[in-house]
Amino acid sequence: MSTPPRWTDRQLALLAALGVRDWWPLPPTAPEAEPQPKPEPQSEAVAAPAEAVRPPPPPAPALPQAEPAPLALTLDAEGLNAAIRACRACGLCEGRRQAVPGVGALPAPWMVVGEAPGEQEDAQGEPFVGPAGQLLDAMLAAMGLDRRATEPAKQVYIANAVKCRPPRNRAPEADELAACRPYLWRQIELVNPRLVLVFGKVAAQTLLGTDEALGKLRGRVHRLPDGRPAVVTYHPAYLLRQPQDKLKAWEDLCLALDTAEALP
Ligand code: SF4
Repeated sequence: MSTPPRWTDRQLALLAALGVRDWWPLPPTAPEAEPQPKPEPQSEAVAAPAEAVRPPPPPAPALPQAEPAPLALTLDAEGLNAAIRACRACGLCEGRRQAVPGVGALPAPWMVVGEAPGEQEDAQGEPFVGPAGQLLDAMLAAMGLDRRATEPAKQVYIANAVKCRPPRNRAPEADELAACRPYLWRQIELVNPRLVLVFGKVAAQTLLGTDEALGKLRGRVHRLPDGRPAVVTYHPAYLLRQPQDKLKAWEDLCLALDTAEALP
């Protein structure tokens, strides 16, 4: 039987952040259920050092994805956030307490795109808070990133595909995603990330213009319409419900780090 390979401290830290351990060798991959990021579970421990690991997937070729051209918003960051907070372009404005534009530095070398605000995000006005947000922060920390970092290399901007909470935390509908997409594209322009981490199928749909299952989108590097690399992985809320898929998320994050490091 082969022995576990040696891995970098960064890869091990990612495993620990995901709460992954004892997984060499990995059993055959089971068919993947379609992830549904909400509602969030109540809690999940984030810790436990990794003891053994398996190799990350081989580098995948870039995948061009068709996507309608982003609409031309030219607002600066302040104007964009004000426009989002005042927006009534889709029905999600009716049930929100407040719109949730995003959090983090602009510009930033990394950007995270999730699905939509949940109850706590709607109340606090910040994306990815609560248990899923805690897991995301742990994953980002293992990657050397922090949503509140002042050091440029550690900065990451976090946003969602739609900025207002859908009723009962349902998935955003196509017209809602379309209405909110110009804001997201403008955020990407302002953040100007070297790489975009795409969490969950809804975010992948709106950024990549595809209905493919998330299991078929992850594990390779995509290109946004502006040529920017993007890596798709599971939404942290899904990982809290399906911890067996944390290993795959770890592979995706390692792929993202390797991709970012290889950029000129
Ligand atoms: S979800 Fe987006 S498009 Fe819809 S009202 Fe909120 S900010 Fe406007």
